[in-house]
Order: sequence, then C-alpha cells, then structure tokens
Amino acid sequence: MELNQKGILLVISGPSGCGKGTVVAHLLADYERYALSVSLTTRKARHNEIDGFHYYFVSEEEFQENIKNGNFLEYTFYCGHHYGTPKDRVNELLDQGINVILEIETEGALNVKKACPDAVLIMILPPSFRVLEQRLRGRHTNTEEDIHRRLERTKEELLLVPQYDYVVLNPDDGDGDAAKTITAIVETARHEQKRNTNLLRDFYK
Ligand code: 5GP
Repeated sequence: MELNQKGILLVISGPSGCGKGTVVAHLLADYERYALSVSLTTRKARHNEIDGFHYYFVSEEEFQENIKNGNFLEYTFYCGHHYGTPKDRVNELLDQGINVILEIETEGALNVKKACPDAVLIMILPPSFRVLEQRLRGRHTNTEEDIHRRLERTKEELLLVPQYDYVVLNPDDGDGDAAKTITAIVETARHEQKRNTNLLRDFYK
C-alpha cells in the first residue's frame, strides 16, 4: 500500500511585487516533481519574457475561442488584460504525480478552489505594503499608472486572504525559505486523509 501518488494542485497568489516569481523559481529548480502551468494572456510580453515559457501571448480573439471551447480551468480579467489556465495540461501533469503550480491572482484562485476543492491555496506576503511599493518601483518594467493600479488591486486582493489555506511570508533576505515552507505544506497535504481513502479501503485485502 502506498500514499495516493497524484500530484497536488498548488495555487500560489500574492500581490504584484511580493516575489512569487522567485519563490516559484526556487520550487522548480531546487525540488523534484514540481511544474508550473503556463497561462494564456492577452497582455503584451515584457522585454524579458518568452512566449510559451512565461505565458502564451495570444490575441483577444484566440483567448475568446479558448473560452468558447471550454479549454480553461479558470480565467479572469486583471488590470486590463485576460489571463487563463489551460485545463488539459494541468490534469495530465497531476495524473503523472507532478505537483502543479498555478501562479494566479485571487479571483482565479478562488474559482479553482470551487472547481477543484482538493487544490491547496497559498498566499505569499511581502513584509509590508511599503516594501511592496519599493519592490514594484525597483522593477522598472511597469509604468507609474500600472504601479498605482497594481497597488490598489493589492488592497482588494488582501481582503480575500481569509479564504486561503496558508499564508507564507517572503522577506527580502528569505532566499528560498518560502519555497522550503511550501514543500512542507505540500508534503503535509499528501498525507491528508481525504486524499488517501484507498489506504483504509485496501487495508484488509
Ligand atoms: P502579470 O501581468 O504581472 O504577469 O500578472 C498579473 C497577475 O495575473 C498576477 O497576479 C498573476 O499571478 C496573474 N495571473 C497570471 N496568469 C493567470 C491565470 O491564468 N489566471 C489568473 N486568474 N491569474 C493569472
């Protein structure tokens, strides 16, 4: 007998600038059996972003076509652009026992929880709002208007923290600590009774 080997669907959210990209990069580089779902977006690529790696950058028409064909696990409209999680790839990876990370905003995260109650929702928090603002300005990839919009959006998103399963702090000097904490959460989730009803069922066989 063994634990259910299906992967865990891991939804990671956090205010823009909280460092979730770095946390996810640590999870992918330092630990085995993690994969990141690549979303579709109608946003334009930033100068350092690669199509098919960071996102699939698509037209509004292509995005609407995917909605019509039921290809999304969830999708949302965020700060002027559409973003969506392709369903089939996520399910394929979970069936292979890979933990799949969705790096998505709060509305999408809560929709995933409705569609997949077994998903684990994690909110990554920076040390303070002030630090967040400094980090966003330090990026130099967002316009002033965009920074303002993202900070306002952060206030709205944080109202939803109580609906998340876990909060993980990401301090400036954390260097991989947040990723390590997340692997501990995933390991705990793998042992949840509801994921392993087969153990007792097969016990007397
Ligand atoms: P950015 O434009 O900074 O890459 O992403 C903006 C926000 O959209 C981030 O909070 C990011 O996590 C979220 N996001 C990226 N892909 C998806 C997706 O497929 N679905 C949802 N709901 N949010 C997404």
